[in-house]
Amino acid sequence: MKTLRGKTARVTGSTSGIGRALARALAGEGASLMLHGLGDHAAIEELRAGLARVHGVEVRGHAADLGDPASAARLVADTETAFGAVDILVNNAGVQFVSAIEDFPPERWSALQDLMVNASFQAIRAALPGMKRRAWGRIINLASVHGLVASPFKSAYVAAKHAQVGLTKAVALEVAELGITCNAICPGYVRTPLVEAQIDAQARVHGLSRETVIRDVLLAAQPTKRFIEVEEVAALAVYLCGDQARSITGAALAIDGGWSAR
Ligand code: NAD
Repeated sequence: MKTLRGKTARVTGSTSGIGRALARALAGEGASLMLHGLGDHAAIEELRAGLARVHGVEVRGHAADLGDPASAARLVADTETAFGAVDILVNNAGVQFVSAIEDFPPERWSALQDLMVNASFQAIRAALPGMKRRAWGRIINLASVHGLVASPFKSAYVAAKHAQVGLTKAVALEVAELGITCNAICPGYVRTPLVEAQIDAQARVHGLSRETVIRDVLLAAQPTKRFIEVEEVAALAVYLCGDQARSITGAALAIDGGWSAR
């Protein structure tokens, strides 16, 4: 039985990596979908059409640049206009930037906060009235293990992810009695284009092989010593959307191979 038939999901950053796996898993459970993200238009259209065909659900595409956080609210409004509702709101789009804090470009700092914190706030603010009317909603903020612990040289990312976890808790408390849950998923390293770029950058900066970077830098803090698969994160998100998870709210759920247990 498809558990999410009749629901509409809007997943930001679902043209790549974790978001794409989430979109696929939600569509697989029967949810209609607003696919969103930047990238090659033809490839995104192929993804959209493929999801609709394989899963027999309605899928539309949106390419709002969330560098302008107000566009996150417009994306919610456009989804409501197209589908009549946003039942499942996933704030997933994100980027990384690595730099010592004294060299950190202030505009980069602001860009990371806009994309991951301010756009999440704007989207939640826009989606809540409809969720309240329908007395049902699932909000998932794709934070990170870096929403729970820090690493050096990732100050903007760590600050943004901690803010997403804080936002998650505050929203959860505000709507706890209304049939709406709000949770943060906090993955360790998942092998996606975002992480591939970090492997390349670290290999270049330190003059190391990619294999050495993976073993001695990235997975050094991840006790399982393997990357998390995007499907593992997607399965957790699907679980959070189900009725069995209606009492899980305000949680920051680590899926980090034991990283945050240290
Ligand atoms: P990814 O690079 O594969 O995908 C990022 C997505 O965000 C893409 O669809 C891209 O188009 C979209 N995006 C980026 N900038 C945007 C902008 N300005 N406007 C609109 N869309 C934009 O990344 P990923 O690894 O799948 O990461 C997804 C989320 O998971 C991010 O929030 C990331 O911080 C988080 N996360 C990733 C990992 C990991 O190891 N990959 C670990 C923990 C948390």
